[in-house]
Amino acid sequence: MTDALKNLTVPGPTMIALTEPFWQAVESGRLTVQKCNGCGHHIFYPRALCPHCWSNDLSWVEAAGTGTLKSFSQVHRPAHPGWVPAAGYIVGLVVLTEGPTMLSLILPHGDQAVNVGDAVRMHPTNVGGRMLPVFKTTPDMENLEDAP
Ligand SMILES: [Zn+2]
Repeated sequence: MTDALKNLTVPGPTMIALTEPFWQAVESGRLTVQKCNGCGHHIFYPRALCPHCWSNDLSWVEAAGTGTLKSFSQVHRPAHPGWVPAAGYIVGLVVLTEGPTMLSLILPHGDQAVNVGDAVRMHPTNVGGRMLPVFKTTPDMENLEDAP
C-alpha cells in the first residue's frame, strides 16, 4: 500500500510559520508536538496559545511516536478524487502517548484487522510526494490501553 500512496495526486498539508517545525520534523522521520511551559500539557495541533491555560510560552518537543487507536473509519468513498486509488484506506484518531489526539491515516499490520485500542506507532510515509505522520498498528507492542 505504501508504494500506491506515494503516487497519489492529493492536496498536501498547509505549511505556515506555526506548523513549519512539525512538518520539518516529519520530513526527517520524527514526530514533534508543542509543550506548554506554563502548565506542562502537550498540545496538538500546533497553536499560538495553550488551550489549557492560555499561555503563549510553548516549545516544540520530541514525541515518542506511539499511541493508541481511539476510533477509526474505513473510507470507501474519498471526499477528494485523488484518494480514490487508495479507497478502502483507514483514517483514525490516535491518542498519542503524550496525551493529545491526532487524526491520521492508519496502516494495518499485514492482513490483521484494525481494532479500537490497538497500539500504533508512527510510520512516516510518502503520500503524494510528501512525508506524512501515518500510524501503523503494532501487534508486537503491548496494548497501551492495558498499560498501568
Ligand atoms: Zn498551558
